[in-house]
Amino acid sequence: MPGVLAAFCESLGWACGARWSMDPKIGAFRCEEAWSVDDPDIATFLAASRQSNYQPGHAGFIRRVLGTGQPVWIVDVSADDSFLRGAQAAKAGLRSAFALPIRLGDQVLGAMEFFHRERRLPDEWLLETGVTIGNQIGHFMARVQAERELREGEARFRSLTALSSDWYWEQDEQFRITSMSSRFLERTGIDPALYIGRKRWEQPALNLTESDWERHRAQLERHEPFFDFEIERPGPDGTSVWLSLSGEAVFDEGRRFRGYRGVGTDVTDRKRAQGVLRAAYEELARSNAELQQFAYVASHDLQEPLRMIGSYTQLLERRYGDRLDQDAREFMGFIVDGATRMKQLIEDLLAYSRVGTRGKEMRPVQAQAVLDKALVNLRAAVEQSAAAVTHESLPEVNADDMQLAQLLQNLIGNAIKFRKKDEAPRIHVGVEDAGDEWHFSVADNGIGIEPQYFERIFLVFQRLHTQDEYPGTGIGLAICRKVVERHRGRIWVESAYGEGSTFHFTLPKIQKGET
Ligand code: ADP
Repeated sequence: MPGVLAAFCESLGWACGARWSMDPKIGAFRCEEAWSVDDPDIATFLAASRQSNYQPGHAGFIRRVLGTGQPVWIVDVSADDSFLRGAQAAKAGLRSAFALPIRLGDQVLGAMEFFHRERRLPDEWLLETGVTIGNQIGHFMARVQAERELREGEARFRSLTALSSDWYWEQDEQFRITSMSSRFLERTGIDPALYIGRKRWEQPALNLTESDWERHRAQLERHEPFFDFEIERPGPDGTSVWLSLSGEAVFDEGRRFRGYRGVGTDVTDRKRAQGVLRAAYEELARSNAELQQFAYVASHDLQEPLRMIGSYTQLLERRYGDRLDQDAREFMGFIVDGATRMKQLIEDLLAYSRVGTRGKEMRPVQAQAVLDKALVNLRAAVEQSAAAVTHESLPEVNADDMQLAQLLQNLIGNAIKFRKKDEAPRIHVGVEDAGDEWHFSVADNGIGIEPQYFERIFLVFQRLHTQDEYPGTGIGLAICRKVVERHRGRIWVESAYGEGSTFHFTLPKIQKGET
C-alpha cells in the first residue's frame, strides 16, 4: 500500500507517516513503510522509528492503538510523556501526531501514524475518515494475505507433485477420473487418456476379482478414505504394472460430496521382488522338507539291511565258528564291530532328523524341572565320574520339554565325557536375563576346545577325537544346534584349550499373552 501514506500526508498537509504491521517472524509489530516530505531531520526520525517494534499495550502511542483498537491524538509530542519517541520527534521539528488502527472486524492488523509540523487540535473529521480508511486497508491487507497464501499453497503443491515420484489424481462425484498428473505416464508408461473420463473399474485389473471391486466401490460410496489399494494393470508392450493408490473424499463448503482425490505410486519393482522372494522361500521350504524326509527314510530303511548283516554274521559265527581259522574269526569280528557302529550312526541320524519332524509344540515349561530330569538320566555318568553339577535357579521358558531335556543332557553329558583325566568334572549351569531372551550357559573344567573348531563341532558327524580316546558319533552338538534353532535361539561355545569350555545358548522369553 505505498501511495496511501503519501496521498494522505500530501493532501492534508501532514509532514510524515508510517505504517505498522505484525511481523510473524519476530512476533511483534514492526514499521513496514514510511513516507515523509523531503527533510533530512524527519528522515532521521523515521529511520530511528524503524528500529523499534511493539507489542499491543495500554500505554504509549502505537502500542495503545494496537492494544485498544482506538485512534490516539497527541497535540504536542514534546509535552506528552506517554510518547516515548517524543524528544526525537520534537528534534525533527514535529509537533502533533495521531495514529489509527488498521482493523479487520475486531482484529487489529496494524496501525498508521502521522506527524504535523504545527500544533494541531484533535480533528473529529480526520479521526473518523482515518478510521474508515484503516478499516478498508484492513480488508485490503487480509485479501492480499489470503491471495499470497493461496499462491504459496499452489506453488507448494506444484513442487510437491513435480519432485515426488508419485502422481496426483482426481475423481468426480460419479467416480470418473478427471485428472492425473504427468508423473503417471512417466512412471508407468500407460497413457492417462485410457483412464480420463472413466471409472477405475472400467479398466482391466489383473489381480482383482469382481468382489474386490465391489468392496472398493462400496468404500467410495461411503466416502471413506482408502490406503494402498493395489491394482495390477496391463502395461505397455505386454507387461504389467502394479499401482498402489490412496485417496480421500472431497467436499465443498456446503459439505456436498465432490469426488475423490489422492496419490498413486508405481510399486511394480517391490511386487516383483516380493514374488521372487516368495518363490525362493517356497523352494527352500520344499527342498528342506524333501531333505528331512530323505534323511529320515534313508536312515530308517538302512536299518533293515544292517540288521540282516548283523544277524547273519552272528549266525555264521555260531554255526561255522569252529570251522573258521583265526584270521576269518578276526575278520568277522570287524564286520560285527562295523555293523554295530553303523547302527549307532543311523540311530543318531534318525534322532537328528526327528528334531525337525517329530518336535512337539512349544509350551511354557519349568527349565528347572527339565534340568532335574536330564540329571536323572545322567545319574550313572555323574556318579561314575564323581562330577559336581551346580546350577542357578532356572526360569520358565517356552519350549518343547523333551527337546530341551535332550539339549541339556547332551551338553552336560559332553562336559562329563570330555573331562581331564586327573580332575573330577565341575559343571555349572547358569542363566542370565538378556532382555527379551534368556541366556543359558553350561560351563565345565574339561579338556577345552581349540578356537579353530568352535564352528565345526556343531556340524553332523564332526568330532575331534578318535573312538578310542572318547567314544561318540559326533551328532550330539548338531542335535543341540537344531533344537536351539527350532526354538528361535542361538548356540555357541567359548573355550580355553586345556582349561575348560562354556557352551552358551539363548531361548526367547515367553511373551505376555503367549500360552
Ligand atoms: P560326540 O560327543 O559324539 O563326539 P558332539 O557333537 O557332542 O559329538 O561333539 C562334537 C565334538 O565337540 C566332540 O567330539 C568334542 O571334540 C567336542 N566337544 C563337545 N563338547 C565338549 C566339551 N564339553 N569339552 C571339550 N570338547 C567338547
